[in-house]
Amino acid sequence: MENVDELEIRKFEALAARWWDPNSEFRPLHEINPLRLNFISQHVNLAEKAVLDVGCGGGILAEAMAHHGAKVTAIDMADASLSVAKLHQLESGLDIDYRKISAEALAEEAPQKFDVVTCLEMLEHVPSPESVVRACHNLVKPGGTVVFSTINRNPKSYVFAILGAEYILQLLPRGTHEYARFIKPSELAAWARGAGLDLNKQIGMGYNPLNKRYSLHTNVDVNYLALYSRPAL
Ligand code: SAH
Repeated sequence: MENVDELEIRKFEALAARWWDPNSEFRPLHEINPLRLNFISQHVNLAEKAVLDVGCGGGILAEAMAHHGAKVTAIDMADASLSVAKLHQLESGLDIDYRKISAEALAEEAPQKFDVVTCLEMLEHVPSPESVVRACHNLVKPGGTVVFSTINRNPKSYVFAILGAEYILQLLPRGTHEYARFIKPSELAAWARGAGLDLNKQIGMGYNPLNKRYSLHTNVDVNYLALYSRPAL
C-alpha cells in the first residue's frame, strides 16, 4: 500500500491550474516562499547541491531553490500539479527533474542521493507522515540536511490555521487542512530521531492580518519549519 491519500491528491489537482497565480488559493505559499527559502539558505548553501523537494506541487519552492543554483529533483503524486510545474519551468528557463513517485519509492531507488531534502506543507496531507520522515532520512546523504514544515496541533493552531485561515480570513479554501492530521513538533522530532535525524533548528511562521504579512518568529504554536541533519559517517 502506498502512503498516499487519493482524496488529498484530488483536492490539490482540482486547483492545479492556479499554482502560479499569486492571487489564488496558493497565495499563502507564494508569500511564505521567500521566508522559507531564506531560512533554508541561511543554514545550507544551495548552489550546486543535489536537492530533492518532496510534495513539490506546482514547483513554487523547487523553482526558487533552482534559482539559487541547486540541482533540483521534485516529486509529487498529483499529475495535474506536475504538468503545471513542468510547463512553468519552461517559462522560467530552469531544469528541474519533476517526477511522479512517492518519497518511499524514491528512497528505494536512490538512497543517500541528495545533499538536501525539503518536504514543506506536505506531511499533514499523508496517511503516515512518519513513513515520509523515514524516507527523507534514507534519501539524504550522511552529513546532509532535511527540512520539514507543517502545522502544530493544539487549540491555538485550530483557531489560527483552520477557523482563522479557512473560515474568517479565507486565506485557504475550507477543508484544506484537517485538525487531526496536524503534527506537534515533539511528534515530528520523535519520528525524525527514530529515523536517525538530529534536530538543528525550529522556527515558527505566522500571519499578521493587520498588515497582511507573514513572518518568521520563535513561536512554533501554529505553522513551523524544522531543520534536521543526518549525522556524517
Ligand atoms: N511543498 C509545496 C506544496 C505544498 S501543498 C509547497 O510548500 O509549496 C501539498 C502537496 O503535497 C501537494 O502538491 C500534494 O499533491 C502533495 N502530496 C500529498 N500527498 C502526497 C504524497 N503522498 N506524496 C507526494 N506528494 C503528496
